[in-house]
Order: sequence, then C-alpha cells, then structure tokens
Amino acid sequence: MRAIDHFIDGAAVSGTSGRFADVFDPNSGAVQAQVALASAAEMDAAIASAVAAQRGWAATNPQRRARVLFEFKRLVERDMDELAALLSSEHGKVIADSRGDIQRGLEVIEFACGIPHLLKGDFTLGAGPGIDVYSMRMPLGVVAGITPFNFPAMIPMWMFGVAIACGNAFILKPSERDPSVPVRFGELMMEAGLPPGILQVVHGDKAAVDAILDHPDIKAVSFVGSSDIAHYVYSRGTANAKRVQAMGGAKNHAVVLPDADMDQTVADLVGAAFGSAGERCMALPVVVPVGAATADTLREALLPEIARLRLGVSTDKDAHYGPVVSAAHKARIENYIQMGVDEGAELVVDGRGFSLQGREGGFFVGPTFFDHVQSTARSYQEEIFGPVLQMLRAETFEQALALPSNHQYGNGVAIFTRNGPAAREFAANVEVGMVGINVPIPVPVAYHTFGGWKRSAFGDSNVHGPEGVRFYTKIKTVTQRWPSLNAEGGVTDSSFVIPTMK
Ligand code: NAD
Repeated sequence: MRAIDHFIDGAAVSGTSGRFADVFDPNSGAVQAQVALASAAEMDAAIASAVAAQRGWAATNPQRRARVLFEFKRLVERDMDELAALLSSEHGKVIADSRGDIQRGLEVIEFACGIPHLLKGDFTLGAGPGIDVYSMRMPLGVVAGITPFNFPAMIPMWMFGVAIACGNAFILKPSERDPSVPVRFGELMMEAGLPPGILQVVHGDKAAVDAILDHPDIKAVSFVGSSDIAHYVYSRGTANAKRVQAMGGAKNHAVVLPDADMDQTVADLVGAAFGSAGERCMALPVVVPVGAATADTLREALLPEIARLRLGVSTDKDAHYGPVVSAAHKARIENYIQMGVDEGAELVVDGRGFSLQGREGGFFVGPTFFDHVQSTARSYQEEIFGPVLQMLRAETFEQALALPSNHQYGNGVAIFTRNGPAAREFAANVEVGMVGINVPIPVPVAYHTFGGWKRSAFGDSNVHGPEGVRFYTKIKTVTQRWPSLNAEGGVTDSSFVIPTMK
C-alpha cells in the first residue's frame, strides 16, 4: 500500500504516530493509499523547524521572495498534467476541472508575485519638528492553514502563496482525503528555491488541528471547511490569542427574474449546480424563480439539460462530472435526498442508485432535481454539498431577496436578469458576501478577496488579495527624531504631558 508522508524541513518524513487514514480512488471505491496522521509531537517538531527557518526568510528581500513564487508558478505549469491527474485521482473531479482548481490557485501565486509593491509602507516627512513617521508591514512568524477536500490545490495556494510572500513560514494541514497535491507543492517550492522549513505539509485529523490551535508559536490560522469545524477552529484559536480566519459551509441561491435570458441562465445553472458533483462552496444548489410563469419555463428548460448530463469516471474527457469524494459523503447526500422527499418536495429527477458499469464500487450520485421545496425544510436549510438542485418558487422579488438573506449561510448568491435597477437593488441589499449578476459562480479574482457572511465565515478577514496581505502581516510604526535636527526647533526639555500636534 502506497504511504503518503509528511513534508517537513524540505524532505519527506514518515509518520510515527502509528495512525493512518485511507485515501480512496472515488472512481472505483478502492483504497489507493494511506496517509500518515500526525501526533501533537510530530506537529510540534514541524513547527520548531519552521520557527528556525522563518527569520532568515523574513530577512530575504521581497523581490527575491517573489522570484521563488515566479519559479514555483513556472514549475506548476510545467507539471500541470501530472498534478491535475493526481488531484482528480483522489478527489474525483474531472481532469479539466482539476486543472481549473490548480489554475485558480496559481492566480493567487501571480498576485503574491507583486509582494514588493504590496508590502510598501507609509511615510510622513516632518510629522513634527525634525520628526518622521513610517509604518511597515511585518510578517507574523509561523502561520498555519487547514484546508478542505474540495479544492486541494486552489485553497492551499490562496493561503501559502500570500503568507510566504509576506515573509512567514507556513504549516499546511491539508484534507486527509486528497493530500497528495499539497505534498507535491511542498516539493515544487523547494525546487523553486524556497529554503527548507518555510512550507511544511503535515497531514492529520483533529489531533493535528488541535496541536496547531494550541501551539504558542503559531501566530495565525487560516481555515476553510464546514461551519461547525470552522466555528470550533475560530473559537479555540482566538481563545489562544491567535489571528483566525475560518471559512465555513454554504448554500448559495440563484434568483431568476422573469426577464432573464433563459438559455444562458439554464446553461449557467446546470454547470454551477452539478459541476464538480456539487462539491463547491460556490456551487448553486438552490434556484429561486420569481413568478409561476418563470418557474414553469425554467423547469421545462432545465429538465432536458439535466437529462443530457454525463456522469463518468474523472478521467473521462466527455464526463460533465465524476464521483463524490467518499462512500460516507455519498450516503450523506442520499440521506438528504430522502429527507427532501419526506419533507414533501417534488423529486423530479432522482440521482440515487446510479451505477457505472465496471465501476459499481465508485461513489457516484446522479443529478437530482427537486421542485416545490419549502423554506422550512431542513434539506433546504442545511448544506448538502452534492449534485442536488432545489427549486423554491417565489412570488415576488422581495420574497426572493429574503430567502438568501435569511439563510444561515451567506457565501455566494447570483441573480439572473436584464433589469439593471433590480440587480443593483439586489446586490446592495442581499445579506451575502459575494454576489454574481448574470455570473453563476462569483468567486472573486485573485487580486480581489474571497469571503462569505454569517455562518459561511468566522473572523473579520477575507482570504487572498490585499485582505490576505493584511491578515498575514502586522504593522510596526516608527516615530523617529535625530538629535542633530533639534536645531530646527525640536524640544530638548523633559515633557510630562502627552505630546500633541497642536
Ligand atoms: P471539513 O470541515 O470536514 O474538513 C476541513 C478540515 O478540517 C480538514 O483539514 C479536516 O481534516 C479538518 N477537520 C475535520 N474534522 C475536524 C475536527 N473535528 N476537528 C478539527 N479539524 C477537523 O470539510 P470538508 O468536508 O473537507 O470540506 C467541505 C466543506 O468545506 C463544505 O462545508 C464546504 O462548503 C466548505 N468549504 C467552504 C469554502 C469557503 O470558502 N467558504 C471553500 C471550500 C469548502
């Protein structure tokens, strides 16, 4: 059985805890490898080597740090095919989508290549007589990232690209379900010239996460995953006086107004609801047409498109989507489908029981579509995270606006319309962090910033873009006075009152 090791201090390190997790091939259901699960002692050792390496890295000028990232980008592009195949083999998303996962992460690396400019501080000449003031963004030290299974390339790069560019050392605790691509990133960073100890990949489960949250040398934690764990990570990390940004789950709505371009809306909706088997935090699992006529037209247009969807193994070039990540996740999705039926919604297309010939053990779930879902239904209020689209019919614009606004999650939302003022009103008033106007998956580009509202994010900081630079740095402000400048009117007497600028 293939073992997946930690990547510590620039080299593969076998696990010593004696604990392992199975890594599956979702296409067949077979166990393809075992990943080591770190103990607190193993995590502590990795953190110690990160501490030792970080000062030298912080003292490396930012242009040189950026050059490592430029080279890393080139190496990832060189190895794109291999990385996409590896990602797809553990996650189950199709190869084209796996490439997209890597590419969206690389776009944050591109952003981080601009770190010399992003880290420039402020300077005031002559803030007082002979006095200058300047402020600098300093790295925090050693920071950590805990990432989910659904974007094993993009989300780690969101974090370590910016953190390392800022001069921090980074401990990545990737999802134990698809851990191989993060290890390859550690290796490629070394090849790109990163000193050992600056990017470490330590695998694990709750024990490893708790070791990060409790360790005094970890100054900040970035987390992306489900909301209950995000809240736990946020609470425990901040109780230990760390900076924490913790992104959680989602249930994104697509609101469709009567004047929407229906062909475009249906095409966008099908891609965003079922792409990557619905395992995206910015998927669109809920559609809210406004008015009965819009709902009927939409339903009629959706059904043939759903029927056309091709579900296949992740290496099938013609497949629209592949299997979900695990047998447990497949069972969870199917339970939610049954819950929807029990709650009285109309199950128009049932994806349960889908089987691919020769791949009967694979974790496949067919596309599923519910109509007439009620907002009181638990299957609507909770995140399913599978290829399940739920339609809630709204009578008015106000009702449609209220649904995503009142939902416990507030990650993303989309509105489809040709009505500019209505879209503008919707974007201004909806209680959701990221809004698409005729854009189905409004994941902001790398130089903007990503983050939801309500139970989709804990903490006050978004991920990547300028917010990422702020998160991974602290400000030092220096007020300086040079004795020789006292001739310009500086004060030489002792002062017993607070200096003012009056
Ligand atoms: P998850 O919460 O199960 O796992 C996320 C991370 O937490 C993993 O590294 C895992 O090892 C760790 N973890 C799991 N259980 C833990 C515990 N009890 N204590 C401490 N750590 C624990 O999430 P997942 O299933 O890997 O990913 C899917 C979830 O992530 C979905 O809810 C999805 O919406 C969410 N997600 C959110 C965003 C966002 O930006 N808001 C992006 C991607 C995914």
